Amino acid sequence: MGFKKLLFTGVSMTLKKSKRMFEKAKKLLPGGVSSPVRAIKPYPFYTESAAGSRIRDVDGNEYIDYCLGYGPNILGHAHPQVKKAITDQLDKGWLYGTPTELEFTLAEKIAGLYPSIDMLRFISTGTEATMSALRAARGFTGKDKFIKVEGGFHGAHDAVLVKAGSGATTLGEPDSLGIPADFTKHTLQTPFNDIEAMTGLIESNSDDLAAVIMEPVMGNIGPVLPEDGYLKEVREVTQENDVLLIFDEVITGFRLAMGGAQEYYGVTPDMTTLGKIVGGGMPIGIFGGRRDIIEMVAPSGAVYQAGTFSGNPASVAAGIAVLDILEKEKVPEKLNARGDIMRSRLSELVVDRGLDHTVSGVSSMFKIFFGDKPRDYQDVLKCDKTGYIEFFHRMLSNGVFVPPSQFETNFLSFAHTDEDLETTLQAYDVCLR
Ligand SMILES: *Cc1c(COP(=O)(O)O)cnc(C)c1O
Repeated sequence: MGFKKLLFTGVSMTLKKSKRMFEKAKKLLPGGVSSPVRAIKPYPFYTESAAGSRIRDVDGNEYIDYCLGYGPNILGHAHPQVKKAITDQLDKGWLYGTPTELEFTLAEKIAGLYPSIDMLRFISTGTEATMSALRAARGFTGKDKFIKVEGGFHGAHDAVLVKAGSGATTLGEPDSLGIPADFTKHTLQTPFNDIEAMTGLIESNSDDLAAVIMEPVMGNIGPVLPEDGYLKEVREVTQENDVLLIFDEVITGFRLAMGGAQEYYGVTPDMTTLGKIVGGGMPIGIFGGRRDIIEMVAPSGAVYQAGTFSGNPASVAAGIAVLDILEKEKVPEKLNARGDIMRSRLSELVVDRGLDHTVSGVSSMFKIFFGDKPRDYQDVLKCDKTGYIEFFHRMLSNGVFVPPSQFETNFLSFAHTDEDLETTLQAYDVCLR
């Protein structure tokens, strides 16, 4: 696909089939979609196929993709080796309801990479991972409260849908209807990068505080990075007060380093949740941690957790294949270097034009904030959401699919070529104004 030097003319006139599909879909599916962030206004493009760095819509438009399924496709779409792992498994059946060798092969691999994980359980989504991790933390400590960071997104279960990032913030609904106040009364909130606030909240609640759960890099409002020393200080204050620290590494795991943000920043939590990348694009979630905690999970302990599709062989086989490639090809290191280049080139663009934008990110995560450099959720909310969405549509018209929200991260994949990146930078050049 060549670089289309289109000027922004509203949504491209070539989305006719998508528009028709949206008209049908919205009668059957709320907002015409199966998950809120996909509901691009006035209507989303409907996808026909995807391969490598490209995603193609039903009208035949092709885009360089920086959403990548919102994170999982770190090797790009339809990677042949991952596909082979999945199809080889499909030949042998894809759901047994019995244990398989695949599960401990992947578990052993993960435990070797994450010193915080002695034992783990496979589930099917990141939502289940944080829900179950919190249950295990509460079961282990016998305490009810937990702290989450404002703007942190830990999936869509009741206890964490309070000032939640991702689609919830995009839609201006960081809290949700349908959740009884009683279900969130044990959920405490504190701003990111503010160790005094965190310390104060921990100390004043330590009698009934099971855990702190946080994204070490805020990936669902940004990315917003931890300031120097912040994560270490959180580790210290949780330890001093006998409160478990849970890192939600559903985005950062296998991305910042094979051992996730905890390896990258050198901070070891008590428990870790994983998902997205580790399923190679198939549904997966994992929660793991110290042996004394995870041993309390059923059937070895009394913290109940179960799932028909948990540890399903297709996802686990895909996960094993992905981790092999990430390790052999040194993907995290290489993508971190490319991310640095992307961020510095974008920063040059922003500075050259004298825009009051900020380029943020780490590793293969990057984003232009339409505003000052944010250090927490409140800062992010001050960015120009509307300006960002207009920019998003201009990028789409120029063949580049960046997230349709100021609050979602752009991801680089191993499939993006130098040419892709140059084309993308040209599109930024045309579309930033
Ligand atoms: C996406 C995400 C989740 C939820 O994962 P699902 O698989 O969508 O349920 C949880 N935590 C973080 C940090 C995420 O980015």
